[in-house]
Amino acid sequence: MSSKTYDVIVIGAGIVGSACAVECAREGLSVAIVEAGIVGGGATAAGMGHLVVMDDSEAQFALTRYSQQLWDEIRDELPHEVEHDACGTIWIAADDEEMAEARRKARVYSDRDVPVEILDAQSLAEAEPQLRPGLAGGLRVPGDSVIYPPCAAQFFVDQALARGGELILGAAVESITANGISLRDGTSIAAGVIVNSAGSWSPQLTPGLEVKKRKGHLVITDRYPDFLRHQVVELGYLKSAHSVTADSVAFNIQPRKTGQLLIGSSRQYDVEESYVDVSILARMLDRAVEYLPGLRKLSSLRTWTGFRAATPDKLPLIGPHAEHQRLYLATGHEGLGITTSLGTAKLLVAQIMNRGTAIPVAPYLPARVTQEPAHA
Ligand SMILES: Cc1cc2nc3c(=O)[nH]c(=O)nc-3n(C[C@H](O)[C@H](O)[C@H](O)COP(=O)(O)OP(=O)(O)OC[C@H]3O[C@@H](n4cnc5c(N)ncnc54)[C@H](O)[C@@H]3O)c2cc1C
Repeated sequence: MSSKTYDVIVIGAGIVGSACAVECAREGLSVAIVEAGIVGGGATAAGMGHLVVMDDSEAQFALTRYSQQLWDEIRDELPHEVEHDACGTIWIAADDEEMAEARRKARVYSDRDVPVEILDAQSLAEAEPQLRPGLAGGLRVPGDSVIYPPCAAQFFVDQALARGGELILGAAVESITANGISLRDGTSIAAGVIVNSAGSWSPQLTPGLEVKKRKGHLVITDRYPDFLRHQVVELGYLKSAHSVTADSVAFNIQPRKTGQLLIGSSRQYDVEESYVDVSILARMLDRAVEYLPGLRKLSSLRTWTGFRAATPDKLPLIGPHAEHQRLYLATGHEGLGITTSLGTAKLLVAQIMNRGTAIPVAPYLPARVTQEPAHA
């Protein structure tokens, strides 16, 4: 039994746990971050680091937009190794149907004060000359950006430590108890609040959580500094992200500050093993080459996989657990946890401190998935 009692124990030093920890420390709470592996070594190391506004639902828009504004606020504080790049996104419309979707998206964003620009076929080709000819156009969202997520997680941990927080590394939490946590080596640590931010591992610590693993593949190339200027995503990506059953791939490519290109992405449910699946990889790269034929001539350096933590309604779980009085959840961020880490931290800590929030918190409350349906 550790003699120390903390106000808050944060389980997991991914980008979500790290952001929550620094927010707790900022409030003057004593906080310990307990991490089984290394800082930012889970999905945070696997993700693309696209800070992106998305509009699958009003709630998703609200959290991504709020979070992006929070990223913009700290942009000048981010250390060099976080590789912040304000490259913007171009959503590619391959045909007239996707162009209609680009226009719909443009209206939604403009109505909510997010700057956007519709590109016709010619301006798309000028913006990204490597794209294949014959595309209908696209939507440019200049406010989106890119970071290198594990270094952002480390930056947040460092900030928490500078404010008196503690990092307990290489410590696997075995269980969440009535008044704290119990580690695999038998140590117990007490806390007023326990935050389960263990990403795709969170259901192991909180049985019954509806969080499923959703595997993704990525490929990184050698350095080709002038190949691409924006993060470029096919509008068909939205269909892939929406699918809740089939394996899917979609063209999504990102220029890194190093000059490398990060090529994504795939989505698979019900796969527990992290090996690179060559058939999915081939589908993903074929799709990328369809849009950027010049990719064929570039060399790739590394391929890897990671697991998104997916909820049934594609919104994260942020707030108190329905039954355990000291337990809060900050998990289930699927493919947007890098973007939404900062908004999550603000919403979570406001609830711990019993304060109001900048955006309505109801859509993200864990109680929504545990409540009995109302009967008339
Ligand atoms: C291929 C891919 C591409 C993506 N691209 C993007 C993108 O472009 N933009 C975006 O916003 N998001 C993206 N994401 C999603 C994003 O990476 C995740 O949502 C985010 O990293 C989740 O962070 P997290 O802190 O919740 O989880 P994680 O980073 O997985 O952290 C959880 C931590 O908990 C620790 N842990 C687990 N169990 C225990 C235990 N028992 N005891 C102690 N510690 C424990 C783990 O070691 C880990 O460090 C992508 C994800 C994937 C897989």
